[in-house]
Amino acid sequence: MALTVGVLALQGDFQEHIAVLSELGVSTREVRSPKDLSGVDGLILPGGESTTMSMLLESSGLLLEVAKALSEGLFAFGTCAGMILLAREVLDGRSDQNGFALMDIAVRRNGFGRQIKSFEADLVVNGIDGPPVRAVFIRAPVVEKVAKEVAILAEVSYSFDDDTHRVVPVVCAQDRLLACSFHPELTGDTRLHQLFVSKILSEK
Ligand code: GLN
Repeated sequence: MALTVGVLALQGDFQEHIAVLSELGVSTREVRSPKDLSGVDGLILPGGESTTMSMLLESSGLLLEVAKALSEGLFAFGTCAGMILLAREVLDGRSDQNGFALMDIAVRRNGFGRQIKSFEADLVVNGIDGPPVRAVFIRAPVVEKVAKEVAILAEVSYSFDDDTHRVVPVVCAQDRLLACSFHPELTGDTRLHQLFVSKILSEK
């Protein structure tokens, strides 16, 4: 496949994303500095810790360069912390944390509860055929608001600590951006990455 997908490799589980893309036959590039962005067709923003990634994005010079590439139409797939980096609004974030603020969603950091509240769920994802997608949520962000420009591709039903039971979006798409609040790279299921790659190929 004549396609190179970059994976932001400053922190978090970028290796697992690279493994999934390799399984799909996609060329990958670890992105650690602005020069690594040249020639990539898409960029994965992995899970990890968004506050740490924010600091490293700034110190590496990537914050501005990735923002520029995204504004020029680079495809991006943000997973968990990566979804936080793409979100227009971050609730319960650190006051100095920065991101790309491009997808018209509001996310609440750690909104499902602390580490101990990590959980798995089977999801029906719009655009993915076959059995449900097993999703692993680890201190995941909760999507609290979604603008009408954003397509909700999957939702999860969850009982929150305040005794409310809500159905919340967990896979969202807007233009060239895809985001999910869980870790699709941890289950051996390549279909969400395939969805991202198909999105890039459909415009190439
Ligand atoms: N809680 C993390 C953050 O705020 C995200 C967790 C994850 O990526 N698994 O960045």
